[in-house]
Amino acid sequence: MRKLQKLLDKHNCQPGRVFSFNARTQTITYVPEELKNKDGRLALLHEIAHMKLGHFTYKYDVELLDLEQEAWDETRSLAQENGIEIDEDHIKECLLSYDNWVTKRASCPTCGAYSLQRSDNVFGCFVCDCYWEVNDRKDRQVKKKIISAIKSTSGKTQEFVKSPKSKSAVSCFLFFVSSIGSFLTYR
Ligand SMILES: [Zn+2]
Ligand SMILES: [Zn+2]
Repeated sequence: MRKLQKLLDKHNCQPGRVFSFNARTQTITYVPEELKNKDGRLALLHEIAHMKLGHFTYKYDVELLDLEQEAWDETRSLAQENGIEIDEDHIKECLLSYDNWVTKRASCPTCGAYSLQRSDNVFGCFVCDCYWEVNDRKDRQVKKKIISAIKSTSGKTQEFVKSPKSKSAVSCFLFFVSSIGSFLTYR
């Protein structure tokens, strides 16, 4: 526990309700009660990893997946350095939650094809010419609003049901500065 306290002091950590890293203020929020279990300790190391790696912004969802992968690699080294148990299954689940989130956003609401991200929140399908906008919040279900489509009603919002096991769409909260300078909340 003394090692954990040292980590908390060293990395500008504040108690809060979720594990998060704010890239703009370079602060980490942690959930004190959850440091008692190993997933909580790993979550803290994971946020420290984002901070140490200087993660600040991303434009496309695939870049976000790379950042998450990098952060978990760094989390493994931090865990080793600090004598904290590594739970590979937990790491796999966290990475999968991001992967699922990215896939949901990129799947065409009209024909289901995996499509191309055109900007921060807009996707376009190669197959059926459908364009849609997605919501930003990573602690909410993925929502898509069709903004132009040949074969479908525009303005239709499609919702995806989260897996009942996970309380949120993805596993760690990050506050990144988006490429257009506004604030992106990402979990
Ligand atoms: Zn399509
Ligand atoms: Zn993360």
